[in-house]
Amino acid sequence: MSLREELLAQEYDERTKPRGFVYFTDTDGQVVAKTCRKCRELKHSKNYHYKSDGFGQLGPYCRACVSVRDRDYYIKNRERVKQVKNAYYHRKRSEQLSFNLFGDNE
Ligand SMILES: [Zn+2]
Repeated sequence: MSLREELLAQEYDERTKPRGFVYFTDTDGQVVAKTCRKCRELKHSKNYHYKSDGFGQLGPYCRACVSVRDRDYYIKNRERVKQVKNAYYHRKRSEQLSFNLFGDNE
């Protein structure tokens, strides 16, 4: 059973917005599930992070999409950190070499 069928069976209200955005609310009007803005999948509200000004007080992207984004950020960041470290290493190394050269000449 898909989440949509499950929610319909539990008599949650299905609501649609433009551009294929679907969400479900309970009798209090609380959002129980909505479409992720990135992967476009209908997901239960527990799959979203809390966001006070978000739709249904939920972030626009599901946890899976958020973690992919975070991982991408980390990977990019790590590359940059590595480059910075590398530049430092090479600078230190050449300093060390010239120091050794100087030492040998003495
Ligand atoms: Zn998603």
